[in-house]
Amino acid sequence: MTVRTRIAPSPTGDPHVGTAYVALFNMAFARSHGGQFLLRIEDTDQQRSTAESEQKIMEALRWLGLDWDEGPDVGGSCGPYRQSERTLIYQRYAQQLIDNGQAFRCFCSNERLEELRRRQTLEKSVVGYDGHCSHLEHEEINRRLTANNPFVVRMHVPREGQCCFDDMLRGQISIDWGQIDLQILLKADGMPTYHLANVIDDHLMGISHVIRGEEWINSAPKHILLYQYFGWEVPIFCHLPLLRNIDKSKLSKRKNPTSILFYQRMGYLPEALINYLGRMGWSMPDEREKFSLLEMLEVFDINRVSLGGPVFDVEKLRWLNGVWIREELTDEQLANRLQEWAFNRERLLTFLPFARQRMETFSDVAPLGSYLVSGTLPIELDDLLETVDSEERLLTILQFSIWRLEALETWHRDAIFQALKDLSTGMDLKLKVFLAPLFIAIAGSSSSISVMDSMQMLGPDMARARLRHALALLGGVGKKKLKTLEKTYLGLPPSS
Ligand code: GLU
Repeated sequence: MTVRTRIAPSPTGDPHVGTAYVALFNMAFARSHGGQFLLRIEDTDQQRSTAESEQKIMEALRWLGLDWDEGPDVGGSCGPYRQSERTLIYQRYAQQLIDNGQAFRCFCSNERLEELRRRQTLEKSVVGYDGHCSHLEHEEINRRLTANNPFVVRMHVPREGQCCFDDMLRGQISIDWGQIDLQILLKADGMPTYHLANVIDDHLMGISHVIRGEEWINSAPKHILLYQYFGWEVPIFCHLPLLRNIDKSKLSKRKNPTSILFYQRMGYLPEALINYLGRMGWSMPDEREKFSLLEMLEVFDINRVSLGGPVFDVEKLRWLNGVWIREELTDEQLANRLQEWAFNRERLLTFLPFARQRMETFSDVAPLGSYLVSGTLPIELDDLLETVDSEERLLTILQFSIWRLEALETWHRDAIFQALKDLSTGMDLKLKVFLAPLFIAIAGSSSSISVMDSMQMLGPDMARARLRHALALLGGVGKKKLKTLEKTYLGLPPSS
């Protein structure tokens, strides 16, 4: 069998370290078996997918040294590798499932589904579709189609028994069919859902091993059923352990920076970051901590993955990065890397339009822009307190801003401005008063360029990390306090 694996990111945000981690293991597995590794873009969620995010994901993976044999940018014989360009394929297969009685059209209104969910939640029963449209008569279906009633396509799923399948790392997994929803395969706009597109593409692209995060285990029964409906061979599944925060919760941007762009901006070496990701649940046969991607690929064995939730510990990564800098880079190389990192043209050109207004000599640039090439800033609590009338106010402004900014889908200065302006209005504060502590938290000084522009240049993870750092100077927020704050926050008008 030719081993073919893939990474299938959805381009809906900044490139996530979890994507790189799964990509690394897929690539290592394929290469260790002389096979191929593919990149497929799963952009069926048209509302949230952006070309910018797709571009950033591919750049970030390449920056880490990962590369793929087939993909939207390199081509291949199974393209297109972007799901939005494959809609007709999915529609054809959905029709086949309907014709074979393995899927059905569902005309239920959102109100009905909402009511159903409410009732099921109240009765504490399994929340899912009740099969209402699965037995509609032929004439009834035709009548609704002629009347142009909108519909989705759902799959039939057995209501009894269990789905049993093997996982390369976990052995046999059994899930009750009763827990599995009659999944929507095609949405009312004719676009496929993840489940349908994923299965069809994995088959058509000849994927032999589906290696992905453990959050997809519960979706496996739907996928297996679809393979069976189509009469296709089921690939071998391997669900990798999820990356975790230090407190063992699922790695989330609320607690840890998760964007690869953050680690780039912090000045981590790609060699060190990929090395660290290789240590997530996996170890070298000799257990050494520092190894290159090439060294990992040479000895990779998926059976060495251990299932205990690997902790993504930024402090350990920092330590490893230091080892890489000291042991692997000559002064010459370090100089080149630093020059490329801090003073590359692109970065200077984004910053200079702001800086030039305030420059008299070249030497003004360093103090003006040093916060853009720093990690956490050396600020003191007093610097922050000087900008507000009370600790309480400072705490509220910081925490509320973090929440508002976490909810932002596009990280652009105008969107940031709007979100913060709405927040300040909701809190009954003049924008200037509201922004004052943010200047210190983000740029370390109240005389810096617009804080919105600074945030855009720093990127969402770095901006949030700085706001969290400022909160930490206040001694952090206790659980009880957080609850009270949340209550007030939720009472504020939402962002426009
Ligand atoms: N598009 C899915 C994701 O964003 C892919 C999951 C899979 O690998 O099947 O993670």
